[in-house]
Amino acid sequence: MKNTFKEKLKTVLLKMRALRLRQWMLPQSVVIIAYHSVATDWQKQAGYINRGITTDADRFNEQMRILRNEYNPVTLDEIAEWMRGTKLLPKRSVAVTFDDGFADNYYVAAPIMERYDIRGTIYLTVDAVQRRELPWFCRTAFLFQQAAAKKIVLLDPETGRTWNLGNPDENREAFIYYIYPCAKLVGGELWSYIDKLETLFNFRLDQSDISGMMTFEQARELRKRGHNIGNHTISHCNLAHIPQELLYQEIAGANEILERELGEPVGHFSYPHPCLNPQWNDATVIETEKLNYKTATLTSFGLVTQRSLPLLLPRIMISNQDNKEFRWKLETALAGIQT
Ligand SMILES: [Zn+2]
Repeated sequence: MKNTFKEKLKTVLLKMRALRLRQWMLPQSVVIIAYHSVATDWQKQAGYINRGITTDADRFNEQMRILRNEYNPVTLDEIAEWMRGTKLLPKRSVAVTFDDGFADNYYVAAPIMERYDIRGTIYLTVDAVQRRELPWFCRTAFLFQQAAAKKIVLLDPETGRTWNLGNPDENREAFIYYIYPCAKLVGGELWSYIDKLETLFNFRLDQSDISGMMTFEQARELRKRGHNIGNHTISHCNLAHIPQELLYQEIAGANEILERELGEPVGHFSYPHPCLNPQWNDATVIETEKLNYKTATLTSFGLVTQRSLPLLLPRIMISNQDNKEFRWKLETALAGIQT
């Protein structure tokens, strides 16, 4: 009942353009939206990548059509220039970004964007791209999703504790117990932790039949077609929670590989946020400053104004929203309201 009322209210507010009044009262601001995977077979893809970060291709097409017709799609390069005061941007400007580097960004999302003359920024998780394997957080989300459906009871050999993973509360508790430590690991240590976890669960994600990560060759081609390729670290760790001596490798090390593969400087960075808060600290900002990035984006909500810090830009997370919900997200965001 309450939900129906809320939905009706949203429809009325969108029709009345009530949020526009508040938008006019704010200093000019732009929105950066963030996607992950865009799938033609949503059901299948959401099963192994995670439904919260998978967008159906038809819905994505609708969202890009709305962006082109009702907003002003811009690139992160244009936003960087606008922030420096060397470029004007139209009102209601929106930039499109993609975290992680899934192959479907190349096969599905980019052709749809190009249909509407929109160019995006795709941030690559370097290790996953090099190994041609889905990042660790997909492998672990798959374990817990499947274990919930199969109602698996898990015995932790070290503590003797058991978890009934069919129970949502226990599944969540176990997820925090096993997965939060991953965000603090990098490289070989991380992969052996994930291998051990898959052994404990006694099954693993079979990646032979799924669309995984894009290749560097595809990234180069997207670059030629006007899209930007950005850095999303080597291991997809939470940078604010790893030892400081590993920061250089995760940020500058990834940058070096990307520069070599792309044959040009990398202009943009995105902070991974697999879990744990915060996702950045002073030391991480210093590392991105050293590499002269034009922008670095976060997963936290917010509008970008000319007074925002270019290396700590908030974004609006988008996934499988229908047209009304997508418009609602953008209109409320432009009005500075988090939904
Ligand atoms: Zn990510």
